[in-house]
Amino acid sequence: IPKSCAAWGCFKRSFHKFPKDKGLQKQWETALIRERFSASSSTVLCSEHFRQEDFDRTGQTVRIRKGVILSVFCFPAHLQKVRSTRL
Ligand SMILES: [Zn+2]
Repeated sequence: IPKSCAAWGCFKRSFHKFPKDKGLQKQWETALIRERFSASSSTVLCSEHFRQEDFDRTGQTVRIRKGVILSVFCFPAHLQKVRSTRL
C-alpha cells in the first residue's frame, strides 16, 4: 500500500519519516496542527513541506537537515486562520 503524506490535503507519495528525536518529533506534530495526531514509525511526509534549504544534498541520499521543522503546508482555510493568529 503506498503511504501518503501526513499533512492535510496532501496526497502525494511520501518520502520522509518523522525524526527519531522525540523533541523534534513533537515539533513536527505541532506544526501539522492535526487533532489527536501522533506520529508513528510509519508516519511520513513528502518533500513538499520543506524548503529547499532544509535539505542536505551533500550525501548520496537527500536528507533533511538536523533540527529542521517542516514548514510548507496546504491547510484547510479554517486552520490557516488559526495558524496565522497564533504566529
Ligand atoms: Zn505532503
